[in-house]
Amino acid sequence: MLLIYPGSFDPVTEGHISIIRRAAEFASVIVAVLDNPTKSTLFTTQERLGFLKDTLQVEVDCFSGLLAEYAVQKDADALLRGLRNPSEFTSENKYAMYNSAISATLGKRIETIFLPALPELAHVSSTIIKEAAAHIYKSGLNDSFIAEHVPPTVRAALKKQYSVM
Ligand code: ADP
Repeated sequence: MLLIYPGSFDPVTEGHISIIRRAAEFASVIVAVLDNPTKSTLFTTQERLGFLKDTLQVEVDCFSGLLAEYAVQKDADALLRGLRNPSEFTSENKYAMYNSAISATLGKRIETIFLPALPELAHVSSTIIKEAAAHIYKSGLNDSFIAEHVPPTVRAALKKQYSVM
């Protein structure tokens, strides 16, 4: 079974990594980084791909345009998404139904498989990590919160990005 795990990964966190590792126990996974020039990101697409490749043994790719088209072209069996809380399900379920319907019109119906977040990582998001890193590195605070929630290359990149020279 081939799963596509799409996202911004700006940057990858231990939350994403736990979803990938757990899914890789029962399927092949392609991590697909969204390359969307209109969505502003802290890290470039190449940087986001690099952090994933440094950290994981699975295939890492990038895509732009319609996710369903990319998934059909890859002949994927399903999309993979993580769920941290009930409100995330509400928005994710809409995308799951949309991707199922639109992929069917493109030649292969592709459903979405949801994996629940590990409870100890359910508070982790790329947005929260960036917000915390900005405060921690600008003020020279202890960065163990960052160290616990992102891989070492991401920690170093966040430190470089936010430290006051
Ligand atoms: P997007 O911009 O598409 O939301 P993200 O990179 O933020 O992309 O997230 C990609 C996927 O990873 C989403 O399915 C999201 O729910 C999931 N995810 C993010 N953080 C966690 C976490 N801490 N635990 C489990 N899943 C997570």
